[in-house]
Amino acid sequence: MTENQLNLTGNILRIERSSIHDGSGLRTVVFLKGCPLSCSWCSTPESRNFEFEKGFAAELCLGCGKCAAVCKNNAIYIDPDNKAAVTDRNMCSCCFNCANVCPSNAVKIYGKTMTVSEVMDEIKKDEIFFYHSGGGITLGGGEPINQSDFSAALLRESRLLGINTALESCLYGNYQNIEKLLPWLDTLYADLKHMDYGMHKKWTGEDNSLILENLAKVNQSEYSPQIVIRVPLVPGFNDSDENMLATLQFCKGLNNLKGLELLPYHRLGIDSYRYLGLDYRCGEIPPPTAEWLSNRISFLKEHNSELVISSGSGFNAK
Ligand code: SF4
Ligand code: SF4
Repeated sequence: MTENQLNLTGNILRIERSSIHDGSGLRTVVFLKGCPLSCSWCSTPESRNFEFEKGFAAELCLGCGKCAAVCKNNAIYIDPDNKAAVTDRNMCSCCFNCANVCPSNAVKIYGKTMTVSEVMDEIKKDEIFFYHSGGGITLGGGEPINQSDFSAALLRESRLLGINTALESCLYGNYQNIEKLLPWLDTLYADLKHMDYGMHKKWTGEDNSLILENLAKVNQSEYSPQIVIRVPLVPGFNDSDENMLATLQFCKGLNNLKGLELLPYHRLGIDSYRYLGLDYRCGEIPPPTAEWLSNRISFLKEHNSELVISSGSGFNAK
């Protein structure tokens, strides 16, 4: 890889090591910032914005005022009633001076710039674990195809080191950007949120036509990786018999399909909405039960006994 490619920069949310949910074996997952969709149930709202963001956990704030003292934009004051910091987000430029002086971790930093070389240094720390577990690197987000040159460089560099590569993507973007990644990709985890055009648009902000078109093109590509379809299963949105059958029908057309994974809706990201000052739009949806998930998996298996169907949740539904 050239020096220029190693010096390419990307906007990263975070890097998680030793994940067991994002591909085979132990994975180092690189979460990139920025997503073109706006899914109502999103569990990582801090990944959606391409720009960096400041989060604030009021319950951790000591009211010490150190943050206000270093803010050059005068964006922070201490509320005398609650004895806690308040930030005017319109005045905040996300310099993160306040995060660096906060003694209680009340201020969260969402986003940082890293070079390909710096990310690879993190990835290489776990090479030995990849080797013994059959793991590797997974790019997720946010949406890695939004930063396609950076993502392609990470996949390529990993591949050249013999590290297994995976990508989690909503596939909403220019196919030219997706195409750049394929020669270096072992497994694509493709989100298929709903087969109905209108429902997809209502719940994610965009319709599904570009996604289905891109998935068909990946399937036809000479560099097609193995494909795992991932359905973020949300009660009342996409768990109907009709949508499940339509999803199975679409899967039949994929040559390199390795399996179908259901990722049941959860509320683990709800604190992040609060930290960002955002409304949580799925408050009415009841947390799913293991019985519901089991039932949906059984339904799929009744209609396609050959396809490998699994759940990426903590439930042990088979
Ligand atoms: S991130 Fe920077 S500009 Fe924003 S509130 Fe903190 S110190 Fe002020
Ligand atoms: S520095 Fe941290 S703990 Fe102190 S007032 Fe600011 S946010 Fe609260």
